[in-house]
Amino acid sequence: MPMRPYDVKCTRPGCEQLAQFKIAARWSDGITQELKTYALCCGDCVAELFRQARAKQAACRLASGEQLDVPGIFELRRGQRDAQLSRCLELEQLLTPANTDLNDEVEFPCNGS
Ligand SMILES: [Zn+2]
Repeated sequence: MPMRPYDVKCTRPGCEQLAQFKIAARWSDGITQELKTYALCCGDCVAELFRQARAKQAACRLASGEQLDVPGIFELRRGQRDAQLSRCLELEQLLTPANTDLNDEVEFPCNGS
């Protein structure tokens, strides 16, 4: 079924649609690196879940040496590994309010140390 990119449901409570996107952030402790998944979502929920993911990422606490990037939106494709996911930069820009500089909005416990 070519119309269904992935047999995973949207993670937003109450939403029954299939997930089209993965919202995830690159995490690293300086040795290993992985993609930390915040949500899998359909096209309708991507805006809300993307905002939530950014808020969670901004509030996270990291051990020293750990690094967690700002979450991005990745296109889900069946059978693809995380490293092969293509990032939807245009969608991210669309969903990031132009007047909101995340660095000004909240304190970033993740930055620096
Ligand atoms: Zn949804």
